[in-house]
Order: sequence, then structure tokens, then C-alpha cells
Amino acid sequence: MARKMKIGVVGAAGRMGRMLVRQAGESVDCALAGATERPGSEAIGQDAGMLAGIGEVGVTVGDDAAAMIAHVDAVIDFTAPDATVMHAELAAQAGAAMVIGTTGLTDSHREALRGAARHVPVVVAPNMSAGVTLLMALVEQVARTLDESYDIEILEMHHRHKVDAPSGTALGLGRAAASGRNVDLDTAARLAREGHTGARPRGEIGFATLRGGDVVGDHTVVFAGAGERIELTHRASSRQLFAAGAVRAALWTKGRKPGLYSMRDVLGLET
Ligand code: NAD
Repeated sequence: MARKMKIGVVGAAGRMGRMLVRQAGESVDCALAGATERPGSEAIGQDAGMLAGIGEVGVTVGDDAAAMIAHVDAVIDFTAPDATVMHAELAAQAGAAMVIGTTGLTDSHREALRGAARHVPVVVAPNMSAGVTLLMALVEQVARTLDESYDIEILEMHHRHKVDAPSGTALGLGRAAASGRNVDLDTAARLAREGHTGARPRGEIGFATLRGGDVVGDHTVVFAGAGERIELTHRASSRQLFAAGAVRAALWTKGRKPGLYSMRDVLGLET
């Protein structure tokens, strides 16, 4: 029987961290081999499975990321941008693959991740669900097909605890639309509107952000033309979906060359 892939979860006490512990613990192809939290967290010293609500799994949450990462095959990271870069550098040194779900990454964070990806496979995706990955491909295709007389607007809603806006997924959908149109998102994006904005410029890609309650993640991309409107919507109703995608991505890295990969690569969708 093939050896189970050893997975390490950083940020194991977070909303997603606990889902990841559960998903890795339940998968037949991998085993949870380590878990960390930020130094000072109340979770340090506790059993990761107990925190995740699946009973004891014999993996204690630690605060020494370097020691944990040194003995796993892949690290799954849904934490915060600076922590993610630190973990990626450790993974590059240790030869462990990285799966990154953290959002709110800036260009300098991405640059650091590209550095790590020269040494190990690194999968980065603002949304690990198969449905959203497919939605991104569809948005790119629709944007390529329709001309700029169709206005593109991207709406998203998330729970009240989310700290970044627009969501990483909304920005990813914007990048997909911009790529379909062969334009640069940074130039085309209107991230928010307020006051006397004037008429909508042709070619703009607009964003609208809603926050509230316990919404896991809703995204709609609107293509509004003269006399018609196409709306593509994805609604996530459980975070477990993202954890399942992340574990799938970790298993996919086995035997892969170093490089920066996306969920489209993991799912084998054409880019
Ligand atoms: P959260 O705040 O509940 O969890 C983050 C955890 O990371 C916390 O427990 C925190 O203590 C821990 N952490 C921070 N610094 C750390 C460090 N240096 N070492 C170890 N642990 C550290 O947040 P969340 O809702 O779980 O979301 C986490 C991230 O994942 C966010 O960026 C969110 O947008 C993103 N997210 C991505 C997807 C996806 O599919 N890609 C889905 C959901 C959430």
C-alpha cells in the first residue's frame, strides 16, 4: 500500500484550520502529521482533533512552524499573508509542498511565494472550491466572447468576520474577466463607488462588497449589455468545501515539479 501523504496544518485553530484538520483526518490518502498556531495562541498544547470537534487525533498544536514543517510532505496554510510567506519560506527550505488559501496577498507577498515556488510545488488559490474554479474559467470565456459594450460587475457577500475586501475570490474573478478581455485588472478595476462618480466608463470592471451574518461566500459576475444581462453565480454553503479542495490540491502536489500552480491546474482545466 502506498504511504499516506503527511499533511501539516498551520493556523489549526482558525475557522478554516479546524475544517482542514477534520478533512485531513478523514482522508484515506493522507494523514494529519502536524499542526501549529501563532505563538501565544490558547490552542497551543491542545489536541488538534479536539479543537476540530472530531475527537483526539494524537497531534498536539505547537508553535514551532519550522520543526513541524521539517517532517511533513505538504503544508496547508489558511492563515494571514505575512504568516503565509514565513511558512512558504520554511517549506521551501524543508522541501515540503505548500497549499495556500490565504487571501489579501499583496504583490510583495506574491513575489515571495514565487521565490518559494522555485524550490517546491506551491498551489495558491483564493478559492479552493471546484465550482468557483469552474466559474473562473466560464467568466474568462464569457468576457472573451462579449465585447466591452457589456459592463462587468462583480458582487460578493461574506460573513461579518472577514477582514479583507473585496474578497480574494472576487478579485480572482476580476482577473479572469480581465484576462478574457486582454486587459490588466489593476487598470480596469473600480473596487468601490461613492458620491458623484459620473457615468460608468466603458471597459471598467466594477466590484461591490457586502458583509454580514454567517454567509460562507456568495459571488456573482454580471455582464450587463443593452437589453440583456448574463449573471453567473456561485454560493458556498459550507467551508468544508474549501478544505476538501485544499486536501485534494495537497495530494496533487505529490511528485510535481517546483512551480506556482492554481486550482485550475489541480482540476486539469484548460487555462
Ligand atoms: P481565522 O482568523 O479564523 O483563522 C486564521 C488562523 O491563522 C487563526 O487561528 C490565527 O491564529 C492563525 N495564524 C495567524 N498567524 C499565524 C502564524 N504565524 N502561525 C500559525 N497560525 C497563525 O480565519 P479563516 O476564516 O480561517 O480564514 C483564514 C484565511 O483563509 C483568510 O485569508 C481567508 O480569506 C482565507 N480563506 C480562503 C478560502 C479559500 O478557499 N482559498 C476559503 C475560506 C477562507
